Amino acid sequence: MVDLLPGEIEQWQALEAIIRETARRYHFQEIRTPVMEQTELIARGVGQLTDIVSKEMFAFDRGEDRYVLRPEGTAPVARAFVQHHLAQRGGCQRLFYIGPFFRAERPQKGRQRQFHQFGAELIGASGAIADVEIIAFMLAVYRQVGISNITLKLNSVGDPASRNAFRKALHDYFLPLKDDLSEISRKRLDTNPMRILDSKEEEDQPLKAGAPKIIDYLTPESKAHFDAVITLLEKMHIPFERDPFLVRGLDYYTETAFELVSPDLGSQDALGGGGRYDLLIEEVGGQPTPAVGFACGIERLMIACEALGITLADPAGPDLYFVTRGEEAAQWALENMPALRGKGIVCTMDYSGRSLKAQMKDANRQGARFAVIVGEQELADNRFTLRNMAESDEVTVSPDELADRILP
Ligand code: AMP
Repeated sequence: MVDLLPGEIEQWQALEAIIRETARRYHFQEIRTPVMEQTELIARGVGQLTDIVSKEMFAFDRGEDRYVLRPEGTAPVARAFVQHHLAQRGGCQRLFYIGPFFRAERPQKGRQRQFHQFGAELIGASGAIADVEIIAFMLAVYRQVGISNITLKLNSVGDPASRNAFRKALHDYFLPLKDDLSEISRKRLDTNPMRILDSKEEEDQPLKAGAPKIIDYLTPESKAHFDAVITLLEKMHIPFERDPFLVRGLDYYTETAFELVSPDLGSQDALGGGGRYDLLIEEVGGQPTPAVGFACGIERLMIACEALGITLADPAGPDLYFVTRGEEAAQWALENMPALRGKGIVCTMDYSGRSLKAQMKDANRQGARFAVIVGEQELADNRFTLRNMAESDEVTVSPDELADRILP
């Protein structure tokens, strides 16, 4: 878990502003769900056998109730959609979120126990156009940030009938090779053989290469959907790479699956991912409702920014620093700052009666644009020295003139 400190927080705020502005243009509305959910929801929604549910949950009980810190955002949004009958608002629901998520993973660069995601869900549309809108929204954020060194990987995990046929084919293929598989893949052979395709273990790589491809097992409907997504991506000039091994770690995906990877991230190279989840809303108690969404890691986006030398915002210094001599002058500053702040001028002062020299140094260190010097003589004359810090030139002003001198 990490603290976000001043200096860094400005980057986060700038990114959040980009996400919100992109969401506004795509006409997605924000949704905020609690950081805790009932364990049952996440277990059902994400899937009992997934790494997230079986190994990575922060879970605790209160009386009869069992809770987890939310490990992802889609199941909670699906719950909220059902609980608040959002379908009754009519049409598709276009929702986005930004917030913290929690997984008890082994921490490393780009992998934390509390991390942050932004994501979007388009609920109520089954057509390939919705898949492409979601992908376009996700990519628009990275384009706006200035990260262009990225690859969109695309696959289909099919509908349940496609997947059943594919699972059987995978099982048949890997069974004779069982002894050569990694330990983790051996375990997955019976429970979830599609996850073997996800394996990063070295010994699995040559075995994976010859494995059946899901594309050959898609039902005609799933194949048609996948083809439609590909045609639309090409129409939109959105480059992508087909990745037959892309299955993603969450159970609720159907049909389209995608991931965004970056060479600037090291071993944790996924910036984000998503796909269609046509069965989830029903799984968490709603009417059958098709949906598609994405989720992206904010920390990893920041790592990519750092690698590419992208600065989203610089911490801004105050516009005006009141350098005061004596108690009366300090009180005068205190009284005069609110009106200036009301005009949008960022004001600050020294609170501990330090020497003029120390205060000027502090103004410099904080990056103040101007300093105004307030002492007994200045108060008596009602004329003050206003110093432009960058240009080191000074003018004498009355209090009424201060704002005009400072505002650009
Ligand atoms: P997922 O929900 O697993 O598909 O994750 C979506 C994105 O969230 C990933 O591509 C990462 O960018 C980010 N992410 C997931 N888990 C973590 C983590 N433990 N630490 C940092 N980022 C993460």
